[in-house]
Amino acid sequence: MLYDLHTHSHCSDGKLSPEELVALAKMNKVDVLALTDHDTVAGVSAAKAAAGDDLTIIPGIEVSSLWAGRSIHIVGLQIDIDSPDLQQAVAQQSDLRLERAKTIALRLEKVGIKNAWEGAQTYAKGAAIGRPHFAQHIISEGYATNFAQAFKRYLGAGKVGDVKSQWPSINSVIEWINAAGGIAILAHPDKYGLTRTKLYSLLEEFSAAGGKAIEVVSGHQTLAVTQKLHRAAIDFSLLASCGSDFHSPDNRWQSPGIMSPLPKKCQAVWDFW
Ligand code: AMP
Ligand code: MN
Ligand code: MN
Ligand code: MN
Repeated sequence: MLYDLHTHSHCSDGKLSPEELVALAKMNKVDVLALTDHDTVAGVSAAKAAAGDDLTIIPGIEVSSLWAGRSIHIVGLQIDIDSPDLQQAVAQQSDLRLERAKTIALRLEKVGIKNAWEGAQTYAKGAAIGRPHFAQHIISEGYATNFAQAFKRYLGAGKVGDVKSQWPSINSVIEWINAAGGIAILAHPDKYGLTRTKLYSLLEEFSAAGGKAIEVVSGHQTLAVTQKLHRAAIDFSLLASCGSDFHSPDNRWQSPGIMSPLPKKCQAVWDFW
């Protein structure tokens, strides 16, 4: 069985519609796909409707949170997308994203990027607005040549467009996910640039707050990283998840279902579904 438990559609910062994502996942022979858009579940019903019998869709979300001054992503899987707790959380995150986007736009304007607000909105097309939509504007106006450069110059950690301080705590986010009947999974633990000591204190708090799993595999990663995260899962009695974090077919390193293998000895999240 091929599982991909972390993907994005154009309901957040992905390029494809939920239907197009489902079609690509089927082409790649994915058996079980979770749609985990940033702070929204808007695409889940469409993905389910498009999937038919040979692909199982797991309702999911990737929630932005804040821990020790860093922006940390928590994936919720098997959530009830109609649960009032979740609906309220999503509404709150949506307000925060809009407010943050206004601040990002003001800051970008100050460093000379014209029409940042209008530009980002044009690319977001009503989806959960985020930094990648600003990146598209920055690139199209010639202030950077690609995404990596737009983040390096304007949007990445410590840069002028990196506005994150308002996200909820990991405890609140885990509470919402659990209240919606889901399981909370720490997304891409190797992408936060944490030392082992910091990662372990995050995992300690994550587990104590009711988090159940970590992504032992996120996209293409080295065996050393996979082994480190497998070890961490064992040390905190956390389950293992895996996902491509697919955003766009333009990135040839990311495709639904394409990722490093989960170590055979892992206790996988789906073992308990
Ligand atoms: P936001 O949700 O607004 O904080 O934006 C975060 C998103 O930006 C991530 O989910 C990625 O899709 C994207 N992103 C973050 N860093 C980079 C980078 N260096 N290059 C390209 N995309 C990035
Ligand atoms: Mn993203
Ligand atoms: Mn993420
Ligand atoms: Mn993601």
